[in-house]
Amino acid sequence: MSDTQRVRLRDTLAAVPAYKAGKPAAPREDLVTYKISSNENPYPPLPSVLDAVRETAGRMNRYPDMAVRELSEKLAERWGVTPDEIATGTGSVGILGTLVQITCDPGDEMVFAWRSFEAYPIVAALAGAKAVQVPLDSQARHDLDAMAAAITDRTRLVIVCTPNNPTGPSATEKELREFIAKVPTDVLVVIDEAYLEFVEPGHQIDAMAIFRDHPNVAVLRTFSKAYGLAGLRVGYCVAHEPVAEALRKAAVPFGVSTIAQDAAIASLDAYDELQERVDALMTERERVLQVLTEQGWKVPDSQANFVWLPLGDDAMAFAAAADQAGLVVRPFDGDGVRCSIGETEANDRLIEVCEAFLAR
Ligand SMILES: *Cc1c(COP(=O)(O)O)cnc(C)c1O
Repeated sequence: MSDTQRVRLRDTLAAVPAYKAGKPAAPREDLVTYKISSNENPYPPLPSVLDAVRETAGRMNRYPDMAVRELSEKLAERWGVTPDEIATGTGSVGILGTLVQITCDPGDEMVFAWRSFEAYPIVAALAGAKAVQVPLDSQARHDLDAMAAAITDRTRLVIVCTPNNPTGPSATEKELREFIAKVPTDVLVVIDEAYLEFVEPGHQIDAMAIFRDHPNVAVLRTFSKAYGLAGLRVGYCVAHEPVAEALRKAAVPFGVSTIAQDAAIASLDAYDELQERVDALMTERERVLQVLTEQGWKVPDSQANFVWLPLGDDAMAFAAAADQAGLVVRPFDGDGVRCSIGETEANDRLIEVCEAFLAR
């Protein structure tokens, strides 16, 4: 095809990195395989959540409630905000895209740590915004001083991912508050708490209190990880009204299906049951971290449902070794490998692969 026959697409698309989704674990005859590449919850849906989904499925000829009223009211009650301060979306990734759309014109800047969540550079590039990536510190934590220094008069959006995907550490509330005090009040700061539920008590921050203290702070949450609804695509943002209203205005109409809305409501109702699973995953995380440390790995402290192996140039080789052993992990070439905490057998397998890789 000659260039003149080709449809003209936006130039900015050339700058968009492709999202590398975790591939499913291919079934094998010799052993059970596990996918620990996408930080999914390994537990199947709760019976009460499945019941809600089954009942709602019978109404799929109807559009969902565009205002997502019932879920928004429930979330508002849970977090002590008003329903007008809640915006929902097709996963928090959907909301991230909308956050860039409502804050950044082409050439405006979005500041975030790196390495952090893969979706950040993608949503920035799609909007034609400039991704300003601030390297993590030597502990694989956000370097919030450097992030504050990276803010310019073109900065419109700052994202703090805590706990950080893919490295695991969380920021402290004190650090975060000191950082926010340095950000101009017309720049939106989004605290991405996708792994909130996995944070141990000593490391927890009260993002809602920070939100209440600062009109330019929003908090992003998801039902994909601790709540185990990754396949249904529903997340939310707690934001002050002008921001929440802009998010609702720019959102894909009817983006959150009725099934997703009802599953999220049923999950909030069943949170005590879900908490037991989250606790079990946290116990497994501690076990894996401890054994890997004993093996000699320098693993950052993780407050999420994954561990980070800082393998540098060996990342791809490790992923290949894991694959041989029936484990699909998430390598980042030249940097490290993220391994989700999964079924106990998957975690045992990971421990074996790590030991064998060191002994190689
Ligand atoms: C998984 C994840 C999300 C949530 O993704 P969904 O679109 O809600 O499934 C958001 N932020 C971070 C940092 C994540 O790791």
